[in-house]
Amino acid sequence: MAKLVIIGGGPSGMMAALTASNYLYKNHQILLIERNERLGRKILATGNGRCNFTNLNNNESFYNEPSFAKVVLDQFNYLNTCSFFEQLGVLQFSDEEGRCYPFTHTSSTILDALRFALDSKSNIKTLTGFKIEKVIYDNGYILVSSSGEKIKADSLIIACGGTSSKNLGSDGSGFTLAKNLNHTITNLYPAITSIKVLDKEFASLNGIRAKATVSLYNLNNNELIVKRSGEVLFKDDSLSGIVSFIISSFIARNLNKDPSMRFYIKLDLVSNLNQEELINFLHLKRQNNQLVNVEFFLNGVVVRMLGIAILKRSKIEYKERLVKDLNDEELERIAQMLKNFEVQVSDLSPFNNAQTTCGGISLDEINPQTLESKLHQNLFFAGEIMDIDGECGGHNLQWAFSSGYVSGKSASLKINERS
Ligand SMILES: Cc1cc2nc3c(=O)[nH]c(=O)nc-3n(C[C@H](O)[C@H](O)[C@H](O)COP(=O)(O)OP(=O)(O)OC[C@H]3O[C@@H](n4cnc5c(N)ncnc54)[C@H](O)[C@@H]3O)c2cc1C
Repeated sequence: MAKLVIIGGGPSGMMAALTASNYLYKNHQILLIERNERLGRKILATGNGRCNFTNLNNNESFYNEPSFAKVVLDQFNYLNTCSFFEQLGVLQFSDEEGRCYPFTHTSSTILDALRFALDSKSNIKTLTGFKIEKVIYDNGYILVSSSGEKIKADSLIIACGGTSSKNLGSDGSGFTLAKNLNHTITNLYPAITSIKVLDKEFASLNGIRAKATVSLYNLNNNELIVKRSGEVLFKDDSLSGIVSFIISSFIARNLNKDPSMRFYIKLDLVSNLNQEELINFLHLKRQNNQLVNVEFFLNGVVVRMLGIAILKRSKIEYKERLVKDLNDEELERIAQMLKNFEVQVSDLSPFNNAQTTCGGISLDEINPQTLESKLHQNLFFAGEIMDIDGECGGHNLQWAFSSGYVSGKSASLKINERS
């Protein structure tokens, strides 16, 4: 019997195994179980194939439950992650947003570093192509595989991920295992995903990228929920791009608390100028471009189709009309629309398109210091399976590594105490 079994060979499970290997007395065996034929498939898809493995600005504020996350991050933070990979021989770089990547710009670098480290540990055994269907608590843990085989464990770490991008392995079966053990699963929503919108004109904006400040509002009381700047990508029926992904996490977190909540978004498409500066600029633009057709008035401010959408929304007659004929009140309307382009949110894009899961095992049932279950002794959790989600930008892999470290260490110290 392996002393410690870890279900899930994603980043959190691999980190848990490597940490346990350092802390466990060497005669104790660790078994890492993965349902896919290969470990860490999802890592290959991360960061657009480049793996944004942490962020130099990481702290608890990037997570839905900061006080819980802090206790874990305090034990293993982004600097620990960077030096962990440095020790595995991975050169790294960070961009202007603090996002860290392997110097090779290739996510397989990170996965291979983890795999080679696992292979070099004599007390870790890996079992792939092996799906756990059921866990029974009986003075220890009995794991039942999809083919009916049974494995016994003294201590168990469940690191099965959430339910986003199921094709990569995390199909939500970890939640079933946790439920077998009487744990509560909160509402689940896709996060870090594009935001579906009701606005019909998006079909004509498909593919347009724009720098914007994006503000998310509660439709019921018009309260501002969050405001972030960055690049948005207009799609047929949705808003995408990094800043929209960040906003999607806030939609998911609010829905998690109140599923009836509805939202709208305002885009400030010229956030480098305030309203007055923008109006002055448009006056000057009118003066210098008098004989240009109104249809092209916003050339140089936003791309053409977005310009037309703004003119239409501002109810400006733009066909066969010259810029010199725009009156001051019309310029004000255009400025107002550029700074307050309203978008009606209908939904979040589904789990299959999402990078992470908002919701998971209730944190009320987990000790943040050790990540041990409060319901069962010697049962621990790591990674996305818990009700913790981070913003886009390397914060979810950081959570996977931090929680993998904490669960692997605390499970090992407890085993050592008992032996
Ligand atoms: C397309 C994409 C891009 C992303 N990019 C980034 C990024 O750049 N930066 C970032 O920080 N985050 C990113 N993320 C999020 C990040 O990848 C996840 O948050 C992270 O992988 C979660 O780690 P985990 O170990 O908890 O779960 P997972 O990575 O989901 O791993 C869980 C593992 O458990 C296995 N498993 C599940 N159930 C069972 C079972 N019953 N029996 C056996 N094995 C099981 C699964 O096959 C899987 O390998 C991205 C996600 C996606 C989908």
